[in-house]
Amino acid sequence: MVGSECLFCGIVRGDVPAEVVHESDRTVAFRDVNPQAPTHVLIIPRRHEPDVAALAVAAPDDVAAIGAAVADIVAGEGLDDGYRVVFNTGASANQTVFHCHAHVLGGRRFDWPPG
Ligand code: AMP
Repeated sequence: MVGSECLFCGIVRGDVPAEVVHESDRTVAFRDVNPQAPTHVLIIPRRHEPDVAALAVAAPDDVAAIGAAVADIVAGEGLDDGYRVVFNTGASANQTVFHCHAHVLGGRRFDWPPG
């Protein structure tokens, strides 16, 4: 599902509307349409790869760019108290969009182990 068939590629191109909160030359970050916490931001690489492991092999600098975007978003959203970064990967982990994305969740407590 690359290019015109991929929802998140559509957001990268600007064809699909999104509430963008952060951009870099390698990443775009926007608010999740179905937030699971007071702050719920998705960070995606501009490059299409299905998950973070594939991205790490194909473009390791993009993984570092996602980490740098996390730092900017945490500062911008005031999440210094704690937050969670999640890469759902594969069907059994409930990945529904197969364009790599990091969920940045904050603004409430998170239990461990996760559900
Ligand atoms: P995952 O289940 O880990 O693949 O996460 C996909 C996430 O994308 C879900 O949390 C959805 O709510 C979110 N999502 C789906 N479509 C959009 C959209 N158009 N804009 C923002 N978030 C979206």
